Amino acid sequence: MKNKDEAVVIFSGGQDSTTCLLWAKKEYKKVYAISFDYNQKHKKELDCAKKICDELGVEHHILDMNLLNQLAPNSLTRSDIEVDTSAPEDGTPPNSFVDGRNMVFILFGAIFAKQKGISDIITGVSQSDFSGYPDCRDIFIKSMNVTLNLAMDYEFDIITPLMWIDKEATWELADKLGGFNLVRNKTLTCYNGVMGDGCGDCPACKLRKRGLEAYLGKKTTVHN
Ligand code: ZN
Repeated sequence: MKNKDEAVVIFSGGQDSTTCLLWAKKEYKKVYAISFDYNQKHKKELDCAKKICDELGVEHHILDMNLLNQLAPNSLTRSDIEVDTSAPEDGTPPNSFVDGRNMVFILFGAIFAKQKGISDIITGVSQSDFSGYPDCRDIFIKSMNVTLNLAMDYEFDIITPLMWIDKEATWELADKLGGFNLVRNKTLTCYNGVMGDGCGDCPACKLRKRGLEAYLGKKTTVHN
């Protein structure tokens, strides 16, 4: 029988996956959070992830994924490559895109889940704010779901609570789940490795800040 009481969350310690973790905690009896060490520039994100899991009482696993760094040099993994400030005009993804990253994360999350008889895998990808990353699109997730099921002869469900909502609505969801301050102060989204509200200047900070301001603006309007 399928285990629907438990789920695996692909967890980076950023705004989106922390919101998903809060969501999963409400939906399931037990949640496992999985983070990946791919020798990312900002190792601090793994510390953030661990602290958040400790605070929420979630079992946390960090899997070694160094191969990804060897194969795909990138502005998130190499200190000598600067992060693109915007997506290139030719429509190719910005250099913060790591080839295959989400696919590899979901694959290993699925292998982990199956060992425990778990079918539900949660990831914080969003097509609304996908920053030009092809592996954040719904069509990729659906295709990956089919591939995993065929690969392991098992019925996985990849669940994407943020797929169709933007950053403003993601803040709103975190707030509804009682985690607004946790997400605001203890997550790391910034490409320059600054926790909480971040450096304010990199593409990830700008996207996060725009959403936050929109959400806080809306909240004030509603309350007045
Ligand atoms: Zn930043």
